[in-house]
Amino acid sequence: MTSVEKNKTYTVTIDDLSHEGLGVAHIDGYPLFIENALPEEEIKIKAVKVGKKFGYGKVMERFNSNPERQEVKDLDLLRSGIAPLSHMTYEYQLRFKQQQVEKVLKTIAKLPDLSVAATLGMEHPFEYRNKAQIPVQKVDNQLMTGFYRKNSHDLLPIEDYLIQDPKIDQAITTVRDILQRFKVKAYNERENTGFIRHIVIRRGHYSHEMMIILVTRAERFFKGAEIAETIKAELPEVVSVIQNINPEKTNVIMGRDEKILYGKATINDTLLGKTYQISPQSFYQVNTEQTEILYQTAIEFADLNSEDIVVDAYCGIGTIGLSLAEKVKHVYGVEIVPQAIEDAKANAKNNGIKNANYEIGKAEKIMPRWAREGIEPSVVFVDPPRKGLDEKFIEASVAVNPNKIIYISCNPATLARDLRRYEDLGYRAVKVQPVDLFPQTHHVESVTLLVKAV
Ligand code: SAH
Repeated sequence: MTSVEKNKTYTVTIDDLSHEGLGVAHIDGYPLFIENALPEEEIKIKAVKVGKKFGYGKVMERFNSNPERQEVKDLDLLRSGIAPLSHMTYEYQLRFKQQQVEKVLKTIAKLPDLSVAATLGMEHPFEYRNKAQIPVQKVDNQLMTGFYRKNSHDLLPIEDYLIQDPKIDQAITTVRDILQRFKVKAYNERENTGFIRHIVIRRGHYSHEMMIILVTRAERFFKGAEIAETIKAELPEVVSVIQNINPEKTNVIMGRDEKILYGKATINDTLLGKTYQISPQSFYQVNTEQTEILYQTAIEFADLNSEDIVVDAYCGIGTIGLSLAEKVKHVYGVEIVPQAIEDAKANAKNNGIKNANYEIGKAEKIMPRWAREGIEPSVVFVDPPRKGLDEKFIEASVAVNPNKIIYISCNPATLARDLRRYEDLGYRAVKVQPVDLFPQTHHVESVTLLVKAV
């Protein structure tokens, strides 16, 4: 229980940051999370939400500023979660991320001696995203695009997204205005009526090829082809316009079925000198420049030779394995999304790589099968989604007895849990390198090298 009451004001001093970058203050031991608040700042807050174990406060007045505070251009960038760290200097963000990893290695992995290198950051930590997924709503009879306020579906109108490729920002408004001109109806979430749900855009960082995906509730798209032609005419970089159909009442953005309204089914981009085709449903890292640094770090950690047999688990369109295939004997990739495996196979072929095989399926199913079939990888790369590795995967990866495991993680908490498990099964984590793939946000990406303990 707490004495803190909703809607009352309190003066507090921020004593910590949450993993999401919210300021934390304590009133008689009761934690309050506060947006746009940094350690050592003394702040008058209003308690806006009071739960059993913790609450949320809103800044009413700030009496001093942490020297690492940076002016925020647009508070909606914090409120929407687009750029929740944009009130911190970039140096401070990089240290914050390193410390996040250190903290979970101590508390969850119980590996206090494992060293975490300084986060590798960007020179220009803005305008980096090569992909945007923007909801469309009707406001005052106009189509509006923007971002949801955190934990809600109230749309905040935004035109400058700060962290997206500016060509994508521009394209969002252009496409929105074209849809408006053609009188396309916005989707209504509550009633599951209306038509256009999201505008999804990808732009190749090096290729500048653009894909526009119009996510619609229903299949029949009145003047769909004409709209696509108009998009192409106004945005010459567009090589692909796709209609994705999502009839469900769901927060999942894309549905299963797709139609090509204009051009190709995929776009191309390059990474570390190789060309990749990317399908609408395939995962592709959103920060191309930093992805190259991430992969280079992972490949350096692996210290590969021509006898190595490599597993690329959670391979997406094959980018990690194909970046290193020429250095090794063979690459085995596994990934759950069928379109991504189609891309991976095409990508191997188009880059003249013959020593890579790909399987559709769950890594935790395929890895044990490979083990039974007698495949003996010397190096296993893993790059799982936020929930980390499945126990079955961990066991199978240990059973095939690799010399090294390279763990690329987008979630320090599950990384730490999995490193603990590997340590118990005889694989020791020796170094960790965070790479900032998501400047201005709280997301932490890192590469860890594990070696078989002797
Ligand atoms: N290594 C790739 C993709 C990493 S993202 C790259 O760097 O681009 C994680 C990938 O894991 C996604 O493509 C996702 O579709 C896939 N995935 C999620 N769960 C999986 C599972 N259980 N088994 C295999 N792949 C899975």
